[in-house]
Amino acid sequence: MTSRTAIVTGAARGIGAATARRLAADGHAVAVLDLAEEQAVATAEAINAKGGKAVGVGADVADEAAAAAAVERVAAELGPPQILVNNAGILRDNLLFKMSAGDWDAVLNVHLRGAFLMSRAVQSSMVDAGWGRIVNLSSTSALGNRGQANYAAAKAGMQGLTKTLAIELGRFGITANAVAPGFIETEMTKATADRIGVPFADFLAHAAKEAPVGRVGQPEDVAAAVAYFCSEDAGFVSGQVLYVAGGPKA
Ligand code: NAP
Repeated sequence: MTSRTAIVTGAARGIGAATARRLAADGHAVAVLDLAEEQAVATAEAINAKGGKAVGVGADVADEAAAAAAVERVAAELGPPQILVNNAGILRDNLLFKMSAGDWDAVLNVHLRGAFLMSRAVQSSMVDAGWGRIVNLSSTSALGNRGQANYAAAKAGMQGLTKTLAIELGRFGITANAVAPGFIETEMTKATADRIGVPFADFLAHAAKEAPVGRVGQPEDVAAAVAYFCSEDAGFVSGQVLYVAGGPKA
């Protein structure tokens, strides 16, 4: 496999960290980008300790200047990026009547504005190379989910963004696809359990019972799907949404 430079956002932990580890194992040089540089560096160092090539970069993907500067830094340290995984995300769940405009803006900014800014910042190096892979993290919540008006809108938006990037960038050898996970065991789902006052073990057991495959997802399940879209083999697959949810969620 040809070695490329990859950027994974929100990669200090969870699905992003598993994706960074997987892309490094596939032979790519990986920029582990996250809000806190210290945590991003720790995840990158763990990849390097296992023989991979990674750097940690601190940046807020929703900040236009920070996103552009992060991409420039990655290009200088690892080479021009040809793989981008827009994974950074936050939750600010609440029922509509209690949801603040700030919580709406925060979620739309990180997921959607962040993916837009990062995609715009990397596209020129992909166009120059005549090859690129953009993978956006959507969610089964894109289909609608109680208490997640902001998150569902952002994750449905990720699908529209993905399809449009696929249409605009295809002629430059760039594909864009989305992975839409169901319930994955990470800090994000633990935070939801904490917020609603359910022990995480009970929350996991309930989600496992709901899933046709009888278990919850692990970050590596999602990383495997992302890695497929990033592969050479997937060059004729673009604008797609793959639900990784242990069952037919869509
Ligand atoms: P997670 O454990 O909470 O990790 C998200 C990471 O993104 C954190 O390290 C976080 O950093 C970082 N981040 C947040 N805001 C950022 C910003 N503005 N710029 C850069 N990095 C930022 O979440 P996860 O469960 O791995 O989820 C990863 C992605 O998958 C998200 O897009 C999520 O919506 C999606 N997803 C998750 C599930 C699930 O069940 N877990 C299901 C469907 C979709 P801080 O810790 O510093 O905030």
